Amino acid sequence: MAVQDAATPYDAAIVGYGPAGAVLAALLGQAGLRVFVCDRLREVYAIPRAISLDHEIMRLFQQIGIADAVAPFTEAFTPSEYFGVDGQLIRRMTMVDPPFPQGYTPSLVFTQPEVERVLRERVAQLPQVTVALGTEMQSLVQDADGVTLALRRDDGATQQVRARWLIGCDGGSSAVRAAVGIELEDLDFDEPWLVVDVRVNPRGLARLPQTSVQYCEPERPCTLVIGPGNHRRWEISLKPGEDAAQAATPQGTWQLLSRWLSPDEGTLWRQASYRFHALVAQRWRVGRVFVAGDAAHMQPPFLGQGMCQGLRDAANLAWKLGAVQRGDVTGAAAEALLDSYGAERQRHVRELTTKLKAIGAVIGERDLAKARERDARLLAECGGVVKDTPRQDVLPRLETGWLSARDRSGRGTLFPQPRLEGGGLMDHRFGGGWRLVLDGSLAAPADGAGLAVIDLGRTPETQGVVAAWMRHHGGHAALLRPDHYVYGVAAHTAELQGLVNEWRAALAA
Ligand SMILES: Cc1cc2nc3c(=O)[nH]c(=O)nc-3n(C[C@H](O)[C@H](O)[C@H](O)COP(=O)(O)OP(=O)(O)OC[C@H]3O[C@@H](n4cnc5c(N)ncnc54)[C@H](O)[C@@H]3O)c2cc1C
Repeated sequence: MAVQDAATPYDAAIVGYGPAGAVLAALLGQAGLRVFVCDRLREVYAIPRAISLDHEIMRLFQQIGIADAVAPFTEAFTPSEYFGVDGQLIRRMTMVDPPFPQGYTPSLVFTQPEVERVLRERVAQLPQVTVALGTEMQSLVQDADGVTLALRRDDGATQQVRARWLIGCDGGSSAVRAAVGIELEDLDFDEPWLVVDVRVNPRGLARLPQTSVQYCEPERPCTLVIGPGNHRRWEISLKPGEDAAQAATPQGTWQLLSRWLSPDEGTLWRQASYRFHALVAQRWRVGRVFVAGDAAHMQPPFLGQGMCQGLRDAANLAWKLGAVQRGDVTGAAAEALLDSYGAERQRHVRELTTKLKAIGAVIGERDLAKARERDARLLAECGGVVKDTPRQDVLPRLETGWLSARDRSGRGTLFPQPRLEGGGLMDHRFGGGWRLVLDGSLAAPADGAGLAVIDLGRTPETQGVVAAWMRHHGGHAALLRPDHYVYGVAAHTAELQGLVNEWRAALAA
């Protein structure tokens, strides 16, 4: 058994090298931490599960340095049109209009295995990250200084690894979560669906709708998503008592697809039956162990937020572990910062999952009378003319955690990323970290040490996305966290000084 030198533990160990584990490894590695990441499998999961992502994730990919490499595997998400009982349009989900607030198309479809490969290539460039594939975590023990993992390789060899922190990114059946006794809260959603991915040929493509569709039909609610290229996904609800295994056979699947396609119009890429759940970890940290991604939450796929949620976890935790590791925050402040990870993410995930469940209830109504009522209500709400609803409107802000105590509009939201005169997006030009963005009408406090000041009065933006944001929230300055979420907003000099003082005191507390 190889035993790692206990005198030089890794700063962080990550179990699970899916999208959440890979993004976390990249962020922590870039932040200078010595990272160990393992996965029991050797290859990325070859079949897509997630099919959509959003501009927040593209900005995160930008931070990791892979936005350009990922772009060829993405396409703009077509609008999703919801059709009611009698085939009438009852809702239309779109994306926010240009200029795009984060610098990227707000909703995208993508090919998950290719994007995961790009992520792994990036991690491989980081010398401080050790990747162990074909390596399963079997057990863990934590003490006051760190965590020791017992690992078994697929050739039978065993190994121990020690790290200051451990993050379980090991998916829905997380062994890390089980080992530290974290329970999942059931948000009461349990439905059987068949998910089908098809590579459709030109003849089939010509027959299919040109937008994504939610068929809100009580007989059999289902979803059609237009994926990249000729990839089309169907999510088809199964009826009570229906044989899920039979539905997932090629014959059963083609029968369910017969409304849209015949077998000579496409190739089945994958068909699998799932029970969609809504589950959230009751705790996200136990001592030196954290959970992230599907290990911490699972949600129904409506609006395609599952992986996005996991990557938000990674972005939230990475800067906090980085700050503690560098010694930017110490003692009780460090503990509070690390505890804020679970406080922030759990509430955000609960709120979003509750909204996704509500969307699922609209789509999945099986009672004909209630479905007609739903159609009438949705149409009445928009005065009979369906308006476009941007998918991003559904995303909640951070309500609690490492934020200014002064609750005001804009706090806890994701700050925009403007394009700047002279070229480039804000993060390209100014990097991440703690930043103070001024719209040009306020001066930076003289004692704002530790904050990078981005004065748009001196470095103007070209599309007005920050100006629009400031107008909307009634501010002239925003203090940004390293994950681009807004710590606090100020509208005048005294408020700005107070905000910077508060931020300083929180870091030093
Ligand atoms: C049908 C379907 C549709 C979806 N659509 C979308 C969508 O459109 N948009 C979206 O954002 N999300 C979507 N999701 C959700 C998304 O796919 C998941 O949330 C995401 O893949 C989870 O990433 P993860 O890294 O947390 O976990 P996983 O991808 O599950 O990775 C966990 C990794 O941990 C490894 N592992 C497990 N146990 C151990 C161990 N003991 N030791 C070592 N390694 C271990 C596994 O091998 C695996 O590689 C969908 C999911 C499904 C099922």
